[in-house]
Amino acid sequence: MSKKRTLRNVEAVHQMLAGEHKTQTKTTIGFTGKEGQTQITHKPGDIWEETDSTGKHICWWELSESGTKIKYNVHPDVAKAMHEVRRYLNTFPNCPKEVCTCTVPSNLDKKFKRATGMCEDCTVTMETRLKIRGEFNEYAQRRMFENATKFFQDADVEIEKFKESLKKTEFLSGENGEIEKWDFDNVEEVIKNMDDRYADYRSNVLEKLQGQ
Ligand SMILES: [Zn+2]
Repeated sequence: MSKKRTLRNVEAVHQMLAGEHKTQTKTTIGFTGKEGQTQITHKPGDIWEETDSTGKHICWWELSESGTKIKYNVHPDVAKAMHEVRRYLNTFPNCPKEVCTCTVPSNLDKKFKRATGMCEDCTVTMETRLKIRGEFNEYAQRRMFENATKFFQDADVEIEKFKESLKKTEFLSGENGEIEKWDFDNVEEVIKNMDDRYADYRSNVLEKLQGQ
């Protein structure tokens, strides 16, 4: 073995012991700021900020596992989280992945997504299949029950708000424009009446949808 070769091997062993050999780090040399300034060695997975000579933010960099330098306007972790959210908002969780061709969702697709978690095409295909199998009515029933349950959850909140506002409402009395508070017993009676009728309506609708 030549002397030169031996030296190179020794150097490689030193680097390996220090975890800095190129096979261990895939090290890429990067520059921060202008050339001539500190030269910084980045390892795959490293994230660093590039600033100008006054320290003002220019951009973020990340060295990917494959050794590619990727530029970001915001911190890469934030950019990735934003990307995830955007991807989630544009996907249809219930669409069959192997058949769905909806890549650019229309407003109608978005409407269907809220209702079924699928794009329009996939919803129609699924409903057609259920009809052929004779399972559509059962499905429609379940959907209506789910929708009604959601409707009443929202309505419960609205009714409570309305009741609160009724208790606080003042009315102008007709003749001389004086402000009068509702008679307390009267308000309670109105609210109780409303509550009873709403509860009746709610249980009637839900029972009917569940019982069919
Ligand atoms: Zn789809």
